Amino acid sequence: MMNTCKVFDADVVVCGGGCAGFTAGVAAARAGKRTILLELRESLGGLFTNGYITGAAGCVDGIGKEFYERMNRNGDAMMNPHSPVIEPERGKVMMEQMLLQAGCRILYGTHVVDCVVEDGKIKKVIAYCKSGKIEVTGRVFIDATGDADLAMAAGVPCEVSSAEYCGLNASATMGFRLSYVNETKYREAEQSWKEKNDQTKHRNLIVAKEFEALENGDLPEVLSPGNIVFTIPTGRDRSSTDVTMDATHTFDCRCDDVVDLSRQIVDQHNKVLIFVDFLKKYVPGFEECVLTNLAPMNGVRDSRRIVGEYIFRDLDLASAQKFEDGIAQFCEPFDTHVPTPGFHTAIRHIHYKEPVATAICRPAQDCDNKMMHPFVAPDPDSYELRTDPREYCEIPYRSLVAKGVDNLLAVGRCYSAEFHAIGATRIIGTSMSMGQAAGTAASMAVDSGVALRDVDGKALKAQLIADGANLDKPPEGYWQEIREKKDGVPTVLANDIAVIL
Ligand SMILES: Cc1cc2nc3c(=O)[nH]c(=O)nc-3n(C[C@H](O)[C@H](O)[C@H](O)COP(=O)(O)OP(=O)(O)OC[C@H]3O[C@@H](n4cnc5c(N)ncnc54)[C@H](O)[C@@H]3O)c2cc1C
Repeated sequence: MMNTCKVFDADVVVCGGGCAGFTAGVAAARAGKRTILLELRESLGGLFTNGYITGAAGCVDGIGKEFYERMNRNGDAMMNPHSPVIEPERGKVMMEQMLLQAGCRILYGTHVVDCVVEDGKIKKVIAYCKSGKIEVTGRVFIDATGDADLAMAAGVPCEVSSAEYCGLNASATMGFRLSYVNETKYREAEQSWKEKNDQTKHRNLIVAKEFEALENGDLPEVLSPGNIVFTIPTGRDRSSTDVTMDATHTFDCRCDDVVDLSRQIVDQHNKVLIFVDFLKKYVPGFEECVLTNLAPMNGVRDSRRIVGEYIFRDLDLASAQKFEDGIAQFCEPFDTHVPTPGFHTAIRHIHYKEPVATAICRPAQDCDNKMMHPFVAPDPDSYELRTDPREYCEIPYRSLVAKGVDNLLAVGRCYSAEFHAIGATRIIGTSMSMGQAAGTAASMAVDSGVALRDVDGKALKAQLIADGANLDKPPEGYWQEIREKKDGVPTVLANDIAVIL
């Protein structure tokens, strides 16, 4: 047994430095709390940077917005109205600088593995690093590991997947980075394909080409259901630039099992290489591309989630619920990547017994589709509910508060939510807002000495608004434009997303 060789102490201990842990650390430190962040890798950002998910969907607000503004000033962000993109290596450094400037201490290469709980409170976390075994004592702890590692160690009840999918996680997808892509040529080809095709058969040019390659025997199967090509701001000409993509899927995942996680990584390595060969041969603009990086972090969409004081429901999302303690806004579609093979896209709706006024509703279809619903068909008399693009919901603070432990919050993709709700709200914009809220709540709890469940959610919301968060009005920018399409008719597209036409 290794002896403890170093002991640290802080008011707020943040475990995990992904996008949610980053904003949590900045918020707590800026509020004047002695804050320490423990990160098992040697850089920050998690999936946002090390997973090459370089475009933040959702409402980018508060500290997240400030991060983007700083990146943009340096020429390291592409400020698209939806999903603004960052240069991931520079993003890691910007997060580091913002944390250090705020006064947050960072310990890299530090794996949180256990904790000591006394009288319903975490006293210290135990981590392993190059120094050996270390202990970090604190007043408030924030689990930003993405996998609820700390919460599990503390004995907080956790959930995985849903009954509907028999405990399987959403399919996993490893990101990758390509250089020498002629983006101009690719976008022109995509545009011309869209003008000639109505997207009812295939979602985009790359998918259509995948089917062609399959027929020619150049692909073993269709590997990607639809691709987002994120152009990385490198300062280079768009005729020879870098892009990141997350494309290929591994199914039947158990993301809390090391053997299965290793299988996923091997599978993704193989699939990405096949996919890149396909891109070079079939897709205009990719002929000269070179695979420069496989993401150092596997693309796990979901794994364990805490059970919190409130479990954010799938229905809350569809019905655009607002909460007195709403600390993050969400305004995107459902995005449940089906856990089992066959159904090659994400599910964009939930089933409910009756129509809901704020959702786009229609009587259930495709209930017997075994690929979409592999284990149990939904009630055929139910309704399909999709989010209305003109609406938004809020995530309540109580969903970050771990049940049964007084001083633990969970943020990002391991907060307390149902399966379809996590499949949607795990996105980077929302994760960053949750992180900021957790750091701020942690500071309030340290000041008042109350348990986190007793932090006044309304006062927290007011503090976040005072700190510049857009929580007192509907989301701005891209979503405001959609809302202003007043005469538009909500329509469900072939790819299952509700849009305003
Ligand atoms: C394939 C794929 C595509 C996606 N596409 C998009 C998209 O287009 N737009 C969008 O907005 N979102 C997208 N997402 C979702 C989004 O990227 C993630 O949900 C979000 O980044 C999660 O952030 P997080 O901080 O909660 O967790 P993570 O990014 O997982 O960060 C967790 C951090 O904690 C560290 N850590 C883990 N365990 C420990 C431990 N025990 N001790 C210490 N440190 C630990 C990790 O190293 C990591 O740095 C996608 C996700 C995937 C997988």
